[in-house]
Amino acid sequence: MLTVKELNAQGKRVIVRVDFNVPLKEGVIRDDNRIQAALPTIKELLSKGARVILLSHLGKVKHKEAPEVVEAQKKKNNLAPVAVRLAELLGQPVTFVNATRGEEVEAAAAALKDGEVMLIQNTRYEKGEEKNDPELGAYWASLGDAFVMDAFGSAHRAHASTHGIPSTLKAAGKEVALGYLVEKEVSNLTRCVNVADEDRPYIAILGGLKVSDKIKVIESLLTKCDKILIGGAMAFTFLKALGHTTGTSPVEDDQLEYARNCYTKANGRIVLPIDSIVGDAFDPAVRTTVQILEDTNVPGEFQGLDIGPKTRELFASEISKAKMIFWNGPMGVFEQEEFQKGTVAVCEAIAKLSGKAFTVCGGGDSAAAIKQFGYVKEFSHVSTGGGASLEMIENDGHLPGIDVLG
Ligand code: ADP
Ligand code: MG
Repeated sequence: MLTVKELNAQGKRVIVRVDFNVPLKEGVIRDDNRIQAALPTIKELLSKGARVILLSHLGKVKHKEAPEVVEAQKKKNNLAPVAVRLAELLGQPVTFVNATRGEEVEAAAAALKDGEVMLIQNTRYEKGEEKNDPELGAYWASLGDAFVMDAFGSAHRAHASTHGIPSTLKAAGKEVALGYLVEKEVSNLTRCVNVADEDRPYIAILGGLKVSDKIKVIESLLTKCDKILIGGAMAFTFLKALGHTTGTSPVEDDQLEYARNCYTKANGRIVLPIDSIVGDAFDPAVRTTVQILEDTNVPGEFQGLDIGPKTRELFASEISKAKMIFWNGPMGVFEQEEFQKGTVAVCEAIAKLSGKAFTVCGGGDSAAAIKQFGYVKEFSHVSTGGGASLEMIENDGHLPGIDVLG
């Protein structure tokens, strides 16, 4: 696959699909990480004298809702503040076009000079974006001479902007390439998919909320990993499946059989918590009790909100033997101070592997936790894509938004 470095971009209109899906509150950007992450690719193209046309989605626009709801969602997910921030970071003007198609877009694209950059409005303003409407993909493709994919967080979706554009351009004999961000993600995550002998023992750590979201990744990891440590709310579905009581912990009852099968198939390679920290409510405003539970049977009125101290030690000791780690999903409700210790303990254990093992974390909330606790530098790679990194592992290294470039 071609990379942005190799792309012949001088004087060309290069369409770049970036991930500017930043957290916005009342039009104010709360974290500009994703804009920062796109800079190397944008700067490379500008320094080559390309005319850069940026496309990104932002938030959700549900076109099936009533027109006034759709309008409200569009208003909330307006990319205009992103253009302002991008201009500051680049130190040069960014032309923002408050439209996704039509004369205004075409005129701005035509007026671009070498080394200039423009951003159009949120791709999800278009109903056809998420449906990968071929007409929309072809229309956007008609604005440029080449395409660069740098939105790793959207690479698991075949949408008009991630799939329609490159497939149209490729069919027309134009160049399509990977951006720096995507290139780095792909090379790091591929290592977690095609496991080399020197990367064993390979240990996966899973947590977070939903088993059903992560089902396929568990199965896939079982074929690749030496061990899977399971914490977070997810562990309670497994524990219930094995006959433990789980109180009011979040359990997905329709996944019990699946969890039981996985556990059996794993033949001892799935490691579950042996104790937990429980509370009588999730909401701190109504909670009266938090306590350490010495075993894995949660009594009636309680719910498990973090792994317990013995599990922290058990997981840390397993982690200390690893040559490679893939981690997705926090060990507890890390947003609340009482339930941070499990997630911090995993961070700490992984930090001890620094320089000795290859360690990757993927997942929106997991990455936020690592950042909050100050461990980003201790990891070999923290993925910018949650769903995309999981799907990359599930699909044995394949993602629609990457494969289309090959
Ligand atoms: P990621 O975004 O990293 O993929 P998820 O979205 O699957 O992770 O899960 C993150 C959420 O899981 C966090 O908001 C955290 O509070 C929650 N969580 C973890 N453990 C528990 C638990 N025992 N009970 C309830 N929620 C939990
Ligand atoms: Mg999440």
